Amino acid sequence: MRKPVIAGNWKMNKTWAQSVLLVQSISNRTDDSWESVDVVVCPALCNIKAVQSVFDFDRAPIAIGAQNVHWEAEGAYTGEASIPMIKEIGATYCIVGHSERREMFGETDSMVNKKVHALIQAGMTPIMCVGESLSIRDEGTYVDYVSKQVSAGLAGLDASHVASCIIAYEPIWAIGTGRTATPEQAQEVCSAIRAQVAAEYGDQAAQSVRVLYGGSMKPANAEELIGQPDIDGGLIGGASLEAEDFCDLVKVAAR
Ligand code: PEP
Repeated sequence: MRKPVIAGNWKMNKTWAQSVLLVQSISNRTDDSWESVDVVVCPALCNIKAVQSVFDFDRAPIAIGAQNVHWEAEGAYTGEASIPMIKEIGATYCIVGHSERREMFGETDSMVNKKVHALIQAGMTPIMCVGESLSIRDEGTYVDYVSKQVSAGLAGLDASHVASCIIAYEPIWAIGTGRTATPEQAQEVCSAIRAQVAAEYGDQAAQSVRVLYGGSMKPANAEELIGQPDIDGGLIGGASLEAEDFCDLVKVAAR
């Protein structure tokens, strides 16, 4: 049995004070059922420490992720942050290859791969995002496209390390649009992702790696999506900015 994951990607939202208010509100709603889900919030880099202080104080069963990181440990990379930096302030997960970073900031499969390697080496968990644009979906080549992203992002890892990664399937046409993939559409690609992992790293890695769906997931549609055999939870954008919605999503995953 794979432990479900609910991860909130706050993107460039919430100031320091707003972040503290949001996590206090999330933390107040936790209960014993949260132990059966890996719950992660990914605030802006400058707010990770503040969020960690709240979770530490409350002993909340919630982990923290960064939304991006550089693969080098230090150096002349103006504007970037390194893995030792995010780790020291409390991050144990990190999103890599989000479509917004690929589209707006030129993140390539090879950069994603370097980040995944560096995170694994540091004992952190990468949440590696993959997903096709609407034109690729319409062309019908989306399974091949996403499988290649998976293969390139994980290249060179040991099977045991692949097993500890999280892969998020996020069709670009469903992100922030309100247009969710149907459970069948999401399952088709998540199952292809697992098959790609099996083909390259074996069945054990494929059965252990957690594959999430992301793209306009909310409490109203989560049950059917997370109920699919190859969907182990969600990477949540918009709905992670409301404590009640985010906590309802955790409840769905805990069932
Ligand atoms: C995301 O950007 O990772 C995401 C899933 O966003 P939303 O839930 O808002 O579609």
